[in-house]
Amino acid sequence: MKHPSVPLPRIGMRVIKTAVAVMVSYALFLPFGLTYREELGGVLGQMGPLYACIACIICTQSTLGQTFQQGMSRLIGVLVGGILGTATLLLGPALENLWLKTLVLGLVCVAGVWLCLLIKRPTACGMACILPCVILITGVTGVTRYYYAAARMIETVVGLLIALGVNAALPDHRPEHRRGEPGHRPEVDNDTRKLCVIGDPVGHSKSPLIQNTMIRALGLNYVYLCQPVPRGGCRQWLDCAKFSGWAGFNATMPHKEELVPLMDELDEDARLVGAVNTVCLRDGKAYGYNTDGAGFLRTLADEGIDPAGRQVLVLGAGGAAKAVCLKLAQAGVDVVVCNRTLEKAAAICAHDPARLRPAGFDPATLYKEAQDCDLLVNCTSLGMEGTEGQFADFSFLDGLRPGVPVLDLIYAPAETELLRQARQRGHKTANGFGLLVNQAVLSLEHFTDTAIDAESMKTCIARVL
Ligand code: NAP
Repeated sequence: MKHPSVPLPRIGMRVIKTAVAVMVSYALFLPFGLTYREELGGVLGQMGPLYACIACIICTQSTLGQTFQQGMSRLIGVLVGGILGTATLLLGPALENLWLKTLVLGLVCVAGVWLCLLIKRPTACGMACILPCVILITGVTGVTRYYYAAARMIETVVGLLIALGVNAALPDHRPEHRRGEPGHRPEVDNDTRKLCVIGDPVGHSKSPLIQNTMIRALGLNYVYLCQPVPRGGCRQWLDCAKFSGWAGFNATMPHKEELVPLMDELDEDARLVGAVNTVCLRDGKAYGYNTDGAGFLRTLADEGIDPAGRQVLVLGAGGAAKAVCLKLAQAGVDVVVCNRTLEKAAAICAHDPARLRPAGFDPATLYKEAQDCDLLVNCTSLGMEGTEGQFADFSFLDGLRPGVPVLDLIYAPAETELLRQARQRGHKTANGFGLLVNQAVLSLEHFTDTAIDAESMKTCIARVL
């Protein structure tokens, strides 16, 4: 007998968990009835199982963590939508005018989406629109509108709690090694768009694992591969990628500079740094971006560090240091660049001599420069897993004023010796994991042209790295 060419969908544990959660939600809210029983009065009169069931359908995922993330986004959407919907109450009888109501519907949708994007919760956008629209369209008026919105929020919270409870109670059927990971192996169909990282060598790259994890978590129809391209082969690769319909790619060493003259358009940061690490291919054109500097500024913001008006001490003058220094200088920050090879530090500083100053890497110089800085950033590879190099001594950290934060771009090991020494001296420290994720998120935002919630991506990526 011939097998069907398309495999039948499998009914897995996630589907079963969803069904159980929906049944529990329905049973719990059944006493309130499907049509609202206003005779119960107040919020109770507006209760029903619908929103709890929807919350279960949308939120129940393979793992508890993913369920929680989905649930929080949905809850935020309901809160934003509920506030916007009830706020329309202020317009009172004016809403009886159909033209005004139409306009208000449009405005609350724009406001809902905008607010959710502002707090980087794109998955909350839907609820932030649907709820105020339902409130307006169903025509509940007066104070009932408040009860209606409150009831939807309660139902969503209850639905979310049920989804979490069911997820915790029912077994995870996946093999041990895949537990806790959102599944980075992509599902591919004929519409799947292709992305990759190019480099020479590139086999060690964590980008496919990171990007596919995000792609799966966000439910995007993309796949991200690892593509070796030999040094000097960028032009040939670009022609091939355009011809064969790749959506875009990231570039690692040694291609970042070689790509610059090959781009049809360059973003401001790629031009500033003279290197491209993200390329989007659209309508036969190549758009080049550099996410290093913006990723670093996002990371500083995540750590609650505002570099404006401060002096930063950057250790190293390689590719990462260049992006960090030029972006900081562009933001009006004074930077001292200490590097073993002084000429490389001087070359970076020549881009903006008013803001950037080169210095040596000997212990005495490092100690002297540390005394005046408000933030120390290590952009050397010293202390990185798999390398031999290490700082000769850490006495320069004694020069730092109390409370000066110390950042290391290295993320493996999670705590380098530099960070350990700084922490022991009472300084706040952060490793390069935040930068790694922020850069990956920025790239995927360019590829897909959508805003992505970096915080939830950090949780997903931390599980698989
Ligand atoms: P790079 O271009 O090779 O630069 C390496 C830097 O380290 C140079 O300034 C080099 O000094 C210095 N260095 C190496 N060995 C040294 C030693 N024994 N003593 C003193 N200085 C030494 O590398 P990169 O691309 O800029 O990356 C630098 C580090 O940042 C790497 O560890 C990388 O993993 C990390 N990084 C992390 C992220 C992230 O997402 N978290 C992103 C980018 C980079 P010389 O100029 O004198 O050779």
